[in-house]
Amino acid sequence: MTEQRTLAYWQQLATTIEIEGRAFIGGSYVDARSQETFDCISPIDSRLLSKVASCDSADADNAVANAREAFNSGSWSQMAPANRKRILIRFADLILEHQHELAILETLDMGKPISDSLTVDISGAANSIRWNGEAIDKVYDELAPTAPDQIGMVTREPVGVVAAIVPWNFPLLMACWKLGPALATGNSVVLKPSEKSPLTALRIAQLALDAGIPSGVLNVVPGFGHTIGKALALHNEVDSLVFTGSTRTAKQLMIYAGESNMKRVWLEAGGKSPNIVFADAPDLRAAASAAASAICFNQGEVCTAGSRLLVEESIREEFILMVAEEMSHWKPGNPLDPDTNVGAVVDQTQLNTVLEYIESGKEAGAELRMGGDQLHKDSGGFYVAPTIFNGVSNEMRIAREEIFGPVLSCIGFDSAEQAIQIANDTDYGLAAAVWTADLSKAHRTAKALRAGSVWVNQYDGGDMTAPFGGFKQSGNGRDKSLHAFDKYTELKATWIAI
Ligand code: NAD
Repeated sequence: MTEQRTLAYWQQLATTIEIEGRAFIGGSYVDARSQETFDCISPIDSRLLSKVASCDSADADNAVANAREAFNSGSWSQMAPANRKRILIRFADLILEHQHELAILETLDMGKPISDSLTVDISGAANSIRWNGEAIDKVYDELAPTAPDQIGMVTREPVGVVAAIVPWNFPLLMACWKLGPALATGNSVVLKPSEKSPLTALRIAQLALDAGIPSGVLNVVPGFGHTIGKALALHNEVDSLVFTGSTRTAKQLMIYAGESNMKRVWLEAGGKSPNIVFADAPDLRAAASAAASAICFNQGEVCTAGSRLLVEESIREEFILMVAEEMSHWKPGNPLDPDTNVGAVVDQTQLNTVLEYIESGKEAGAELRMGGDQLHKDSGGFYVAPTIFNGVSNEMRIAREEIFGPVLSCIGFDSAEQAIQIANDTDYGLAAAVWTADLSKAHRTAKALRAGSVWVNQYDGGDMTAPFGGFKQSGNGRDKSLHAFDKYTELKATWIAI
């Protein structure tokens, strides 16, 4: 259970919280070997939160060596699954015991509303650790259906040292979607948080140790992609690289793996998800409300954001008015206020990117129906008004490229075939939604959509029980569910002559 507090409470906590900016390697906090740091700035008001260790290849070597030593020692990798389960559940409990501290760090660091940090990010992070911990002593290996003079054992073994590189939009949640299955299956991990949001990952490293995860099993190395990220991706002692972030970086990581030890590479990348609304949707108001949430939640900085709204022509005008009304309830404001539902975008660079896309939409001839401006400039923070473009063609940049801001592109269609053609006409394939009361049309459309998650008469449903990931350039492999264990284990066939 999460407990809501007042703005004054969070403001007070924001000024008193102790922030750890050092790397966590081999069970303790350490400076980068180079002693270099970078400034961790809050997007809420541009205040300096902390100096953070700027790790590079020397720290990658140190962290990977610690991870390897821990793995080889068997202290975690050879522990009985039931014991790993107990420790992971304790780790999840500790995350929840520190949920206010972690939520304020998340909000200060990346600008999302405090209520979301608490109820989505921190609770979801704890849930991923708990779910995977609870699962690990309930999965069995296999015996092959062999001839009677053979035993063919099919077993799963931890892959070894896992490097996890994660983005800034759900910093702790994305980290824990990796940590849950990676740790449950017995691996050692070197986690690299985004340089834009390193603070919660650094904090939970100590909580993992406190829970009983042995030293060296979880290491956290903050720093930039082109330094520590690249060093991990090229490292010959990293067995598996798991990533969430942009498609551009994902492609680069495949090259690094090919240039080094052919480490396994698992990628959760970008999206440009279509949200298809047919005229026979069972509840147009619910669809409009979901369409607004799908682009405004987390400031639109969501890989599955419903950024392309495909609406059947016969209801397009009526429906866009409804969406605009729903979006008027999404108001950028102080992220520390528990009533705020849209916070600050992560930094000046991201703000500029979003504003440039808005300009490109106008220049391409799309009709700006709502928003389009920077807000609250006096705060020193980075706020964008929820924005709607109508009359968008699927060829425009605002329909093809991931904006990662609260900018909705509305596209009309005349038939189910045309909707599916437009929906699939994208490099991405992360998610899609369809709204219709016609069961057959819902099934037909869902089946035809080339996406890893499809929602019918809802947007963004799901929990730990189903896999999450992308088709096409949205990535490979899956987070969540027992399928995630595929990323963190090698299959071994052992043949015994009897
Ligand atoms: P990004 O690719 O810029 O960075 C992600 C991580 O990769 C960061 O830690 C960064 O430091 C690191 N990195 C960057 N360049 C690197 C390099 N050359 N070598 C090694 N590491 C490098 O992405 P971002 O801007 O942090 O995150 C936003 C992106 O993440 C969006 O595209 C979004 O769709 C995607 N995302 C995907 C999912 C999913 O599950 N599919 C979930 C959340 C976010």
